[in-house]
Amino acid sequence: MLPLHSPGPSGGQIDPYALGREGLGALLSDQPSYRVEQIQRWLVRGVDDPADMTDQPAAVRERLVELFPRAPRLLRHTTADGGLTHKVLLECASGEAVESVLMLYPAREGSAARATVCISTQAGCAMGCPFCATGQAGFRGQLGLGDVVRQVTVMQRLLATGRIDVPGIGDHVTNVVFMGMGEPLANLAVTVDAVRWLHDPDGFNLSARSMTVSTVGLVPGIRRLQSLALPITLAVSLHAPNDALRDDLVPVNRQHPLRELLAACRRYREATGRRLTFEYVLIDGINADVGHARQLADLVRGLGAHVNLIPMNPTPAVPWKAPSGNAQHAFRATLQQSGVSATIRRNRGTEIDAACGQLYADYAVASGKTLPAARGAADRLLAGRRGNG
Ligand code: SF4
Repeated sequence: MLPLHSPGPSGGQIDPYALGREGLGALLSDQPSYRVEQIQRWLVRGVDDPADMTDQPAAVRERLVELFPRAPRLLRHTTADGGLTHKVLLECASGEAVESVLMLYPAREGSAARATVCISTQAGCAMGCPFCATGQAGFRGQLGLGDVVRQVTVMQRLLATGRIDVPGIGDHVTNVVFMGMGEPLANLAVTVDAVRWLHDPDGFNLSARSMTVSTVGLVPGIRRLQSLALPITLAVSLHAPNDALRDDLVPVNRQHPLRELLAACRRYREATGRRLTFEYVLIDGINADVGHARQLADLVRGLGAHVNLIPMNPTPAVPWKAPSGNAQHAFRATLQQSGVSATIRRNRGTEIDAACGQLYADYAVASGKTLPAARGAADRLLAGRRGNG
């Protein structure tokens, strides 16, 4: 594989994950070639401090310590759902802290056990969706390739060393979803390189079908992902069935309205053969009545997509909540009766939920304040409804 194209750490240091076989080979051109394989194996296993690469001679370890950025620290590790959900806070090379979540699914009839990591691609998010506290807390910066793939290798190491040990769950990460903090396609070069590294046999060697990239609808990024010709699942956060509502709930809709977005989705599906997923946060009184469900069905019918309905998590940061259980079921039933496959997603550990659009910024939860963009959008949508009668 390689060369990868995403920017590495500054200060003359080299992101070991961005080097790949060729880059490592060039760095260690005075060493036997098997050193490259040895170091790559360490990196895949989540050991990225050269001092811990015990099969390397001291001189090589010392050289790599100089060149590689300091290994990230695991700042916090919390669990929920009886040990089936783990959230870690990881310090990046830049000093930023990012969250990632491991969700363990024991085997059930018809489906094998899974260990799914949900990873972040940005510190914060610039997309400004008003129902999402992360977006409103602002954008702090892009993550580098190492920052992104380490979120997977750290979880891999926790599983492989038995620090996370759940009966029936293997010692390997089986799935990766780019659905954590940030918009993956707004950090496109890094997201593409992370997908390639995770898929590469010399990298993490994960099947492309085991990866999902989520987006709020950055059409150029969808095209770039499609150009990889890998059957990665594309998950598009729709959240509204018409442009007027989506302009408010997902502001990037003003640049890439539904017609353009859905055309890109259709092309992606035709090119990759993968079923699309649409994410739809159900917000009481905003986008969750049966009329919205009918509009949504009309919009996505024929795309062969699955719709994930996500009841809005209550947070003091946003003046909205999920509709009642009956209303959620009526929404799903309307989609299904229209021939659209749909499920209501059970939130994993609501206190540590990681799905895009459901992230909690610590600030927002702790402060108990309603964020201004959320308040503004709520007022506009309310006024719009009054205006409509
Ligand atoms: S919902 Fe996703 S894209 Fe929108 S602001 Fe939140 S993290 Fe960003």
